[in-house]
Amino acid sequence: MEVLTSKRFEFSAAHRYWNAEWSPERNVEVFGKCTNAYGHGHNYVLEVTTAGEVDLATGMVINVTELKRTVGRVLEGFDHKHLNEDMAYFRDRQPTTENIVQVLWSLIAPELPSGVRLHRLRLYETADIFADFYGGMTASFGRSYQFSAAHRLDSSQLSPDENVALYGKCNNEKGHGHDYRFEVTVDGPVDPATGMVINLVELDAAVQPLLDELDHTHLDRQHAFFQERPSTAEHVVVYLWQRLAAVLGRRLRWIKLWETPNNIFEYGVREP
Ligand SMILES: [Zn+2]
Ligand SMILES: [Zn+2]
Repeated sequence: MEVLTSKRFEFSAAHRYWNAEWSPERNVEVFGKCTNAYGHGHNYVLEVTTAGEVDLATGMVINVTELKRTVGRVLEGFDHKHLNEDMAYFRDRQPTTENIVQVLWSLIAPELPSGVRLHRLRLYETADIFADFYGGMTASFGRSYQFSAAHRLDSSQLSPDENVALYGKCNNEKGHGHDYRFEVTVDGPVDPATGMVINLVELDAAVQPLLDELDHTHLDRQHAFFQERPSTAEHVVVYLWQRLAAVLGRRLRWIKLWETPNNIFEYGVREP
């Protein structure tokens, strides 16, 4: 019986994006403010997920103290460093979230005890921007976004009494609302020139029309999709998927939607 266990770690580092084979103009066009010659920095958060059989003697997949020691040793090389200037790994590749997470994988995976495998590394560059790596030929990049909207749960296929019985307070005729938050994960090969699966600017541009459309609106009263079906979070996550898949195509991998901090819905082609 294989169990997944996750632990979070933190490190702080500076970095800069610059492709020496491009003109300064091209660099600024692709990397924006990240081209600043002196660098800038982040509080990175690394989530390490390991998989393995539960040890009968200890009841654990991996001893947390041992994992802390192993990952801590690796992160000593990153913490309070300038990734471009202090670390050989980033002489020939951009210190993007996608590339950092792959380097971390190559350093952590071989150090795990036998019988334990590295399942996933998620590296947060900021609270809402992250990269995932599973050890394959592709990496994932994601960002979370928010919109605030009103809605009412009401099914045209049910009687008024049945709607009240099923949806309770959520059936309130005039509606109620939420701050919806959703995480978009895009998957693909890392472009050697940019170190990216997708440029954040491109991802933001793909999502922005959807935010413009939904933010500060009433889902049922203003959007055809929710006039035809109840505006449950299940339907909201499918709608987000359909709209984003139309722009991002097969690169779109997964959407995770928080209707409230406690109600979470996920939809995608492959589970992360
Ligand atoms: Zn940065
Ligand atoms: Zn609601």
